[in-house]
Amino acid sequence: MSVLIFAELDEGKIKKSSQEAIFYGAKVAQMTGTSATAVIIGQADESELASAGRFGAAKVLHATDRDGGPAKLNEPNGMAYATVVAAAAQQEGSKVIVLAKSSLGDAMTARLAGKLKAGLAANVIELPDLSNGFRVKSSIYTGKAFAFNDLKADVKILAIKKNTITPEETEATATVESFAPALNDSDFVISVKSTEKSSGDILLPEADFVVSAGRGLKGPENWGIVEDLAKALHAATACSKPVSDLDWRPHSEHVGQTGIKISPNLYIACGISGAIQHLAGVNSSKVIVVINKDPEAPFFKSADYGIVGDVFDVLPRLTKAVQAL
Ligand code: FAD
Repeated sequence: MSVLIFAELDEGKIKKSSQEAIFYGAKVAQMTGTSATAVIIGQADESELASAGRFGAAKVLHATDRDGGPAKLNEPNGMAYATVVAAAAQQEGSKVIVLAKSSLGDAMTARLAGKLKAGLAANVIELPDLSNGFRVKSSIYTGKAFAFNDLKADVKILAIKKNTITPEETEATATVESFAPALNDSDFVISVKSTEKSSGDILLPEADFVVSAGRGLKGPENWGIVEDLAKALHAATACSKPVSDLDWRPHSEHVGQTGIKISPNLYIACGISGAIQHLAGVNSSKVIVVINKDPEAPFFKSADYGIVGDVFDVLPRLTKAVQAL
């Protein structure tokens, strides 16, 4: 029996949110007196696979396209990946399955729960309380409330919210085993032909730092100062809804209630008023910095640091200061 963690790859590297999931899973394994096994799907170097050990996985099951093995696994596919993870859980006799809350995770969790007749808690933000059954705390209503979920099914699936836990790394490496479960055409009813990043090099949902801008930027021609700061900080760029509605920026950058929900370590909001619908997507960021020329802008109430000033003056100076570090 082991705790099984599904770890996602991005261009052959284990995603940071999945490193967190592995660490979380390893902690649950410690608490329940068992070991942690990670299942990784797609192409990755042996050393990258073994690096799951740094976050606490004792073993990695690796499923990828290979001669005579399952085909078409190198593109993320929620249906096929759910089948692979369910097969791994059955092989390992896993009773707890952990994965990061992500778009791919969302495409997998309900399918996995169906296949394994499991109980599921999403957006989990703390280690389980095992004092009276198996209780996990999760974030609901875009971070405005918490739910305490008693998972009573034999198999439990936990989708962990990004930035919930800070992994402590060791020098350990995991043993890597090939894993080739039976897959059939019904697992590939949806087939992913290719994937491409919508904008920028840093994926917004995964980004540690985000520089976001709103209508205060006045027009798309002014986004250079936002991109300059983002580049200096190795940050992703984001925007408010009106900005994407006006086609100043792509919809993939729209954050908020009706857009992407993010929880980076640092969110810098430039010329954004801080409407409740915007906050719904960003208020679980660890540190929020607001730059707005109106000292009464509602966003300042949610800010850890506020700069009352004109973005056209503040942003270039901030970029210069970051570049000088
Ligand atoms: P504005 O409200 O126009 O604010 C611009 C800000 O820039 C102001 O605070 C102003 O003081 C400041 N400013 C202007 N010039 C400068 C300058 N030179 N320097 C510094 N500051 C300056 N919005 C979202 O963002 N995400 C959502 O998901 C979302 N979903 C919604 C869902 C529903 C059902 C509804 C009704 C609305 C939704 N909205 C959403 C819209 C939301 O209510 C706000 O209208 C929107 O967030 C405002 O965008 P903004 O802050 O860019 O623009």
